[in-house]
Amino acid sequence: MQTSIIGYPRIGAHRELKFASEKYFKGEVDINELTSVAKDLRNEHIKSQKEAGIDFITSNDFSLYDILLDTAVLCGIVPKRYKELGLSDTDTYFAMARGYQGEKGDVKALAMKKWFNTNYHYIVPEIEDETEVKLSGSKIFDEYDEAKANGFETKPVIIGAYTLLSLTRYTGSKKKEDYLDDIIAVYKEILAGLEKRGTKWIQIEEPSLVRDINAPEKDFLLKLYKGILSGKGSVKVLLQTYYGDVRDVYETLTGLDLDGIGLDFVEGKETLNLVNKFGFPKDKILFAGLINGKNIWKNDYAKTLDGLNLLKDKGINVVLSTSCSLLHVPYTLDGEEKLPEDKKKYFAFAKEKLVELKEIALLYENADYKNDAAFAANLKLFGSKRDCENKEVQNRLSEIKDEDYVRLPIRKEREKIQKDTLKLPKFPTTTIGSFPQTKDVKKNRSDFKKGLISEEEYKKFNREKIERAIRWQEEIGLDVLVHGEYERNDMVEYFGESLDGYLFTQNAWVQSYGTRYLKPPIIWGDISRKNPITVEWSVYAQSLTKKYVKGMLTGPVTIFNWSFPREDISIRESMTQIALAIRDEVLDLEKNGIKIIQIDEAALREKLPLRKSDWNSEYLDFAIPAFRLVHSGVKAETQIHTHMCYSEFTDIIPAIDNMDADVITFEASRSDLLILDALKENNFETEAGPGVYDIHSPRVPSVDEIVTALQKMRKKLDDDKLWVNPDCGLKTRGEEETKPSLINLVEAAKIIRNEA
Ligand code: GLN
Ligand code: ZN
Repeated sequence: MQTSIIGYPRIGAHRELKFASEKYFKGEVDINELTSVAKDLRNEHIKSQKEAGIDFITSNDFSLYDILLDTAVLCGIVPKRYKELGLSDTDTYFAMARGYQGEKGDVKALAMKKWFNTNYHYIVPEIEDETEVKLSGSKIFDEYDEAKANGFETKPVIIGAYTLLSLTRYTGSKKKEDYLDDIIAVYKEILAGLEKRGTKWIQIEEPSLVRDINAPEKDFLLKLYKGILSGKGSVKVLLQTYYGDVRDVYETLTGLDLDGIGLDFVEGKETLNLVNKFGFPKDKILFAGLINGKNIWKNDYAKTLDGLNLLKDKGINVVLSTSCSLLHVPYTLDGEEKLPEDKKKYFAFAKEKLVELKEIALLYENADYKNDAAFAANLKLFGSKRDCENKEVQNRLSEIKDEDYVRLPIRKEREKIQKDTLKLPKFPTTTIGSFPQTKDVKKNRSDFKKGLISEEEYKKFNREKIERAIRWQEEIGLDVLVHGEYERNDMVEYFGESLDGYLFTQNAWVQSYGTRYLKPPIIWGDISRKNPITVEWSVYAQSLTKKYVKGMLTGPVTIFNWSFPREDISIRESMTQIALAIRDEVLDLEKNGIKIIQIDEAALREKLPLRKSDWNSEYLDFAIPAFRLVHSGVKAETQIHTHMCYSEFTDIIPAIDNMDADVITFEASRSDLLILDALKENNFETEAGPGVYDIHSPRVPSVDEIVTALQKMRKKLDDDKLWVNPDCGLKTRGEEETKPSLINLVEAAKIIRNEA
């Protein structure tokens, strides 16, 4: 039994890529330094796979920022405005990813979107009518050659043409169909280039195939792959899918001239049924994704071996693989000293998953595997009860009534009451919550964690920061203030740390986008709130000013979605437990005089099933009520805000309105305000603050630019429902750009008030 992985994490076991990239962006190191760090990481990853005994080792799964952007660049998909900056290739690439503001010009970054149902975000490639799609780079060859020079034969990977063209934005009159021949030519050239090098296998990744695919799309897919595979040479082609099953195109794929097909048996609910129903061709290899690439729990060997035996009985040639790239799990459990051994034994991160793959492959070949020590240990683990239950939580859950999900009076009435009591100006200005996490802020937290400073010293520092933040927000004239979130490392981990039932890691970072990584906490058991979490900070901040300071919480859907979930209870149950805990916090904030409370649901869309038919029953039907459960207990005059990132929620607007918040702020500037039309069409009721500028980039928006955005917004939203705010929290920004940006934002709001 051979083994394969789809991709390996690329950020480095100690976040080397982040630190090197950030230094490069700041001009502290040159490109050679960054390139050399990248090269070391690639070698390290390949070595890890080799040492574990993986047969299909990957190359070109590394990326300086985003793998889809790499693929777009390789295909020549670079908008003119970036080329015209006249920067080096690498800097043009970074300009697309992060925007550019400097002596060569001022260009915004390309849009960024959530990558399928993960918390990874990709840069949206953009094709203009004049874009010439042609092979325009050599990354895939270079990284293959590099590994080869080190003595490793690898399986280079690339995002497939169908997924690339499907995720690309077309700014002109042309559509993806117009690029069929050109893109076929590029992929053929890639195959030819690899053939020249003697490459044995290429992995072409098509995650878009696990979505709903209609007949014309299927037709397009078929044309595309007939083209790419025509005249296929000696390089074997693995078409790899993940994040679900390929029910709409299973027979299309098995009918193609492919050498391997990669299917996801973990998230793909229908995968096994498809194989049972239609069979699997004898002349192809099935890369069976049986090891969960997204979660950190150990694999249940007995179950996996049963699965493998089932496939064997059908006479299918199988390579054991992961369900998706290991990009979504942290590097290794090595060095997680704070995780107790009796808990640690339940987990496998990327490096440990390599070991699992190999162990299972060996067990599979061992007729006497039931007497093998590795098997026995695994069987024992899954056979024993985990210490993770809390009866009190379970009782509380069983006592929830229907009315606990409904806030009264209805929103229209609340809106009137809140306008009367809060007396905010028209087009109120606010920010999303966090302020720049400068070095001193991070140091204060880490010194406290390490025990280098006392709790009193730690708090004193934060209080000073909060006071400074309140003063300058007052000074520049914002209407609804925030305390700045200096006490938080991350919007989920912070809450997780204060909840019972969570486990934490020291170094389990996972890439969210570019240089932004998260350290998702692990939901180990039933969740409950020990003590108030944020009340002290919010009350302190509010005591400093007559203006309103928003209480700032993370909602249950986001806390759940950005944690590693349990595999032994349902999402619904886990999410509802968290909702009850956050509900207690909301009520405590209200009791302590906080009048506006924001409950962030940045990741609301994250676990939305990829197929529309599953949206309600498998997600929205309990995720939206979980949010309502959190705030249904507050008084009419308490204003509930929520915030969401990435405006890709055009299609779930009624569900968002159904969260029954009073105000929602969301990302909008990166996607040209397209969402506004959808809000209007759906008669969106919640007051709304579509972000007026992009905070993912260091550029400072001009007053004019913000005024223009607001004018566009006024055409689609009622004046008395429109808020003025940035896209998202400002924690990743520097103070240098934050203050001038917000000064411009307040100025723009004033201009608009005069116009209205
Ligand atoms: N309140 C959080 C912040 O401002 C929201 C972050 C987010 O949406 N990702 O940082
Ligand atoms: Zn956000």
